[in-house]
Parts: sequence; structure tokens; C-alpha cells
Amino acid sequence: MRMAQDTRFLCDHMLGSLARWLRFLGYDTLYPGPLDDTALLRSAREEGRVLLTRDKELAARAGRTGHLVRSDALDGQLADIRETFGPDLSVGGLLSRCSLCNAVLVPMDRDEAGKAGVPTPIAKRHRRFWRCPGCAQLYWPGSHHERILGKIGELGKGSGQ
Ligand SMILES: [Zn+2]
Repeated sequence: MRMAQDTRFLCDHMLGSLARWLRFLGYDTLYPGPLDDTALLRSAREEGRVLLTRDKELAARAGRTGHLVRSDALDGQLADIRETFGPDLSVGGLLSRCSLCNAVLVPMDRDEAGKAGVPTPIAKRHRRFWRCPGCAQLYWPGSHHERILGKIGELGKGSGQ
């Protein structure tokens, strides 16, 4: 059985929100923006990624490389991915990957966070920080983090497992 954490994704241009959420959850997820179908398929196959698409024809062309995402809504899409690819979308990977550019985040202590530009009041309130080596975005367990945990919790309840 395929381990969920090893699954890597490529989202088509309809699935930008899903791509960001998969990254929040720690999944290696590419979101290249508008590309033609042939380029998407080639990229998925060359990199061993699952092509997630809302396009039935493209999903059919992709065969085992692809997965048709049926829901229009983010919650439904995440539930779909959860049911299809893993025993759960665990919170273990949370804040391990940049939601903007997919790079793996680098942890920082409070001193490093201050030097990297985390505002002092925030640096004083938290102990754990991360920076993105790709786009320099800074992360800490703030309200955004709580919201993500809340949503993951809701999805967990919905599954009945
Ligand atoms: Zn980044």
C-alpha cells in the first residue's frame, strides 16, 4: 500500500486552493498555473506525481497517473484526497512546507527569527518559527495555524474513522 506521506501531487490550474492546503499538510505539491494538458501529463509522469484535475478528459488521458477531483469545494476536495490517497491527512507535516512555493521550511529559534524579520512582539510570544529558503516567507504557529488545525479536525470528524 502506498504511504500517503510519499505521495507527490501536481495540481492543474483549477486547484490552486487545494494545492496550498496540500502544502500546509506537508505534501510535495506543484501548482504550475496554466499549462496545456500534454505538458501537465508529461510533468506528472517525469516527476512521478499524481495529477489532480477537475477535467474529466484530462483525468482519463492520465489514467493511473491522474485523479479526477469531483468536488468544487475545498472541503470536498480535501476529503476526496484523504479517502483516495491516505489513511489520513495527518497534522504531522504541518508547517513543514511553504504554502506559497512548495519549498521545505527551515526551523529557526527565537534569535534567528528576530534577525530574519519576525516582528518582536510575535517573536516574544512564540517559541517555534520557520523560514522558507525558496521565497523567504516566515511562518509561526499563529491564528492561521489554528485555522488549519480546525479544518483538519473537521475533516477527521466527517470521515467516521
Ligand atoms: Zn516559499
